[in-house]
Amino acid sequence: MAFNLDKLLRPHISKIKPYSSARDEYSGKAGIFLDANENPFGSMAEGSFNRYPDPYQWDIKQKLAKVKNVQAEQIFLGNGSDEAIDLLMRAFCIPGQDNIILLPPTYGMYEVSAGINDINTLKVNLTGDYQLRPDAILAAANEHTKIIFICSPNNPSGNKVKRADIYQILDNFNALVVIDEAYIDFSDEPSFTTELGNYPNLLVMQTFSKAWGLASLRIGMAFASEEIINILNLIKPPYNISGLTQEKVLEALYNAPLIGKVVKDTFVERDFLEAGISKFPFVQKIYPSHANFILIKVDAARNIYQYLINQTIIIRDRSKVILCEECLRISVGTRAENEALLKALNLYNP
Ligand SMILES: *Cc1c(COP(=O)(O)O)cnc(C)c1O
Repeated sequence: MAFNLDKLLRPHISKIKPYSSARDEYSGKAGIFLDANENPFGSMAEGSFNRYPDPYQWDIKQKLAKVKNVQAEQIFLGNGSDEAIDLLMRAFCIPGQDNIILLPPTYGMYEVSAGINDINTLKVNLTGDYQLRPDAILAAANEHTKIIFICSPNNPSGNKVKRADIYQILDNFNALVVIDEAYIDFSDEPSFTTELGNYPNLLVMQTFSKAWGLASLRIGMAFASEEIINILNLIKPPYNISGLTQEKVLEALYNAPLIGKVVKDTFVERDFLEAGISKFPFVQKIYPSHANFILIKVDAARNIYQYLINQTIIIRDRSKVILCEECLRISVGTRAENEALLKALNLYNP
């Protein structure tokens, strides 16, 4: 059985006629625009925000296509990766009937979004060293399975997932394979975007929230076949990326060559943190990280977490997460922030 996008799609979606915005009907930039009930005089805040933005963000996509080495038509931009996750479920999963496969421990939004959309989740835990179990995953899939979410480098464990295992899933899974590469800029692995031409069932997600430093703007990327991207465009809110965000993201894209420096600085600080943390007797293990955070196993995670909160240092307690018992996740900070954390931990009395 081969991958069939039309069969995967919820039947009613193919009958939807998209909202035709005023800016869809006339795409020229010059003209007298009396079509969208905008305020012609200007904005009540400094800057020009009185016109609706480009619903398809073509300026960004043209530039981004060059940076990522894909076609502009293979790009979807959402209000954070979270919007793409939600839209995928709404496009492909029938509530109360279909399911998605999740691989715990992993990013929490997949399950939250599935819950909101009343989509069942099948869970196939990762191995003890946070790798896939491809045979078990393929065995878990059934006729109602529509999407699998693979996160690499994985959050919260920080490791990269073995490529051969991902290929085994791509080659043998007839539903959509989503690879969440939120931390790809920190990894030495190439992106799976290079495989878009070979796998019609592949969708790669990345984000501007991490290495790009634009979390507040809320913008995430999805890369897939033009057919899949068209479906996401069909069901998205027309103006899902604000004009201000589009301006700022375009500005960031011109600084794309500087990302390497950001990543290097992060590695220096990650090394510094790891070296400092490894000295504490209550630290059992530091998991190897290919991201901008580290996962550590400690004695009495909850106590350390609470102690740090009392010092107004906030890290993430993952000790209730499966396969992360007694684990804490720490984002790499600036040198001053990392020093403050190490200083506080130095004074910690178990
Ligand atoms: C941070 C993160 C994202 C990014 O989400 P945005 O909505 O784009 O900010 C996506 N996936 C994972 C695994 C993450 O850790």
